[in-house]
Amino acid sequence: MECIFCNITERKAEAEILFEDENIIAFLDIQPVNYGHTLVIPKKHFDNFLTVPHDELSKLMNATQFIAGAVKRSLNADGFNIISNNGDSAGQTVYHFHFHIIPRFNSDFTLKPKVKMYPTGEMKKYADHIRSLISKYRDIYNG
Ligand code: AMP
Ligand code: ZN
Repeated sequence: MECIFCNITERKAEAEILFEDENIIAFLDIQPVNYGHTLVIPKKHFDNFLTVPHDELSKLMNATQFIAGAVKRSLNADGFNIISNNGDSAGQTVYHFHFHIIPRFNSDFTLKPKVKMYPTGEMKKYADHIRSLISKYRDIYNG
């Protein structure tokens, strides 16, 4: 299936590439939330956060930290958001895993969604439900 980010990696599509090594490539988002909005991707195609192998993910995290520092300093930003959208419901539009680095300036806009309150007793129920799945798969995490 055609993938725009694979095409950028393979130089079949244009992008303002900021950084590249053998595993990772970072380039400017074509529709920035703020100028300097950057995407960091593994060169290999993985659909989402859950399908990126651990070694690839750790390289990607290291590169994202390095590039976020450079974006913040070069733009003299006050802060930045690191965002990853996974799945249609979360707003993912390109199914090649990526981190967004969005430089932020004091009082530029708010990204905070409307928050909920748990009805009495419900918080523990949600925690128990998630904990039971974590216990079931703990061995996979431990390796
Ligand atoms: P997401 O919606 O989280 O999957 O993020 C995909 C991002 O890729 C969006 O912010 C798009 O603006 C960006 N994007 C899509 N096509 C290109 C492109 N050709 N070059 C740079 N950024 C792109
Ligand atoms: Zn791809």
